[in-house]
Amino acid sequence: MPTLDTATEAVQAQTTVDGEPCVLIKLGEVVLKGKNRELFERRLADNVRSATRGIARVDVIRRHGVFIVRTKDATVEKIDALAERISDVMGIVWAHRAWRVGKDVESVERAALELMAGRTGTFAVRTKRRDKRFPLTSTELDRQVGGKINDVYGLPVKLKGPDHTLSIEIDRDEAFVFSGGLPGQGGLPVGMSGRGLVLMSGGIDSPVAAYRMMRRGLRVDYLHFSGMPFTGPESIYKAYALVRELDKFQGGSRLFVVPFGKAQQQIKSSGADKLAVIAQRRLMLKTGEVVAHRLGGGTLITGDALGQVSSQTLTNITALDDAVELPILRPLIGMDKIEIMDQARRIRTLSISELPDEDCCTLLAPRRAETRAKIEDLRQIEKRLDVAELADQLAESVQEHRPVYGDS
Ligand code: ATP
Ligand code: MG
Repeated sequence: MPTLDTATEAVQAQTTVDGEPCVLIKLGEVVLKGKNRELFERRLADNVRSATRGIARVDVIRRHGVFIVRTKDATVEKIDALAERISDVMGIVWAHRAWRVGKDVESVERAALELMAGRTGTFAVRTKRRDKRFPLTSTELDRQVGGKINDVYGLPVKLKGPDHTLSIEIDRDEAFVFSGGLPGQGGLPVGMSGRGLVLMSGGIDSPVAAYRMMRRGLRVDYLHFSGMPFTGPESIYKAYALVRELDKFQGGSRLFVVPFGKAQQQIKSSGADKLAVIAQRRLMLKTGEVVAHRLGGGTLITGDALGQVSSQTLTNITALDDAVELPILRPLIGMDKIEIMDQARRIRTLSISELPDEDCCTLLAPRRAETRAKIEDLRQIEKRLDVAELADQLAESVQEHRPVYGDS
């Protein structure tokens, strides 16, 4: 009879993987065809390479519907860090830490045993063959590897609702074996849809709006209006911290800050009264348009949601659209505050947005805000202010920051 020691040694011999750990990426929007698909894949591979630069130099190998990310001297820890980082890159639906092994049953079995070591509960094996020439069918391989795991560890197989799912994918040159993975963000690779400028307050909504547009492939810059010199710099710190967190989704983010206090005072003393809030929002948009043109941006993005506050009635939104020629994208327009907050929590901006600050908007909150702003009245106010000139000056006064994800 074998002793406990020799039994352990036997298991160890069977679980020495003759392969390497890597990240196996599943791509989103797989319906894309032809030239768009080529663009999608090339952009995504570039984005994966730049997102992981701080962790390791990687090779991104493109296969049909998946990417393989490899690095020299890969350790499981390094691959885990890469997978985590990659799961924030837009355009990916799964990032799996996988064993990349030889395309033979024995190598697959060894990796499977290594992955299942120490686990308890039920399991199922699921095989996918991208190379149909492999001698075993998917079901045959499921049975073979499942039987082996059962023999060695005594774990019971359960096909419906198992505690662990072990995945095997037979590819062109190799096999991948993995269990679990990190869900990605989905969407399109950043940069595929052009460039836009996000009007970024310190609030909950605008970071979520930025996230949703990056997820549709837009590369974004950020513009924040602070109440300086009449408020402290807190709102700038918040905007900075928010952009730094959001930078994980695209890299290379730029934050432009405009000291807006004096312009707000001008609006106030122009007799705008109940229209002051909308007049101020129009001035933000006009300034944004000047900045966006300079940066080559084709759209402005705001966190407006229909009816959320008095400045976001349909009439007022129409009055805001009238202020600029660039299209204004409002990805949150049909969302409830609860939904927006859930998303903010998931992308880890909520706790930053909830920090206290002195929002520049509080400087001129009139007693009652107009809910049905008339465009003609707004234009009158703007004439008195020489608003085009003012927007140019404000755009001139921006300070640029480069918040980088992971920096403190
Ligand atoms: P948020 O939670 O993003 O602050 P909100 O619900 O407070 O939004 P508003 O204050 O009416 O709503 O602002 C609506 C949108 O206008 C914001 O989502 C943002 O895009 C833009 N905005 C408001 N204040 C600023 C600011 N100080 N700097 C830049 N953009 C701003
Ligand atoms: Mg706000």
